[in-house]
Amino acid sequence: LRQELTRLDQLNLVGEMAATIGHEVRNPMTSVRGFLQFLSYKEECHNFKNYFQLMIEELDRANSIISDFLSLAKNKQVKLEMQNLNTIIKTIAPLLQSNAIISNKSLHLDLNLIPDLPLDSKEIRQLLLNLVYNALDAMPPHRNITIKSFMEKGQVILAVQDEGTGIPPELIEKLGTPFFTTKEKGTGLGLAVCYRIVARHKATIEIDTCSQGTTFFIKFNQ
Ligand code: ADP
Ligand code: MG
Repeated sequence: LRQELTRLDQLNLVGEMAATIGHEVRNPMTSVRGFLQFLSYKEECHNFKNYFQLMIEELDRANSIISDFLSLAKNKQVKLEMQNLNTIIKTIAPLLQSNAIISNKSLHLDLNLIPDLPLDSKEIRQLLLNLVYNALDAMPPHRNITIKSFMEKGQVILAVQDEGTGIPPELIEKLGTPFFTTKEKGTGLGLAVCYRIVARHKATIEIDTCSQGTTFFIKFNQ
């Protein structure tokens, strides 16, 4: 099953909201986090250390939701510089691999010779993170993720392939819609951010999925 997806209308609306409130909400959160940290070091609070830790973690979670919101922001400029996708993949691979190992999974690279492209390296790293986190969530232990780069029909292709549960056909068209999630603790923003990043690079996303696993293909036009 392979389908091309664009969800730009919804993303623009979310992006505008994000840009407006994101920064304002973050400031008070940062000061609350600071005071919590301060209190957690106090002798009198020793018995409640676990609660402080939980509160800080929850604040960090809220903060990362805001970050996702902000990266959906409409007017964000990409800094496109001619560079090689393989270089960016190699810089983030150790982080992705350690995430895989923590949950008893593995991540391998299959990088082939590809020409340089105009890319925003920060955004491509974010894209890879979001795709790999989803792949990890979808797989039981002892399975593998492969990040591939190759040429096909004159296009540079980035593929993130997992051995997870696959995505039911009826859910495919919902992917990338902000807040769509099937996870108890999901935000439903990861793929929305991915679609945004891909659109800013004038690339496209295709998905191959079956019960043996899922592959996300990002196709760049030179
Ligand atoms: P979240 O990860 O917070 O749920 P995402 O936008 O990253 O939000 O993903 C949305 C939904 O898409 C997930 O909840 C999951 O159902 C589905 N999904 C995304 N990637 C995969 C994958 N590699 N394998 C299976 N399902 C996936
Ligand atoms: Mg996700």
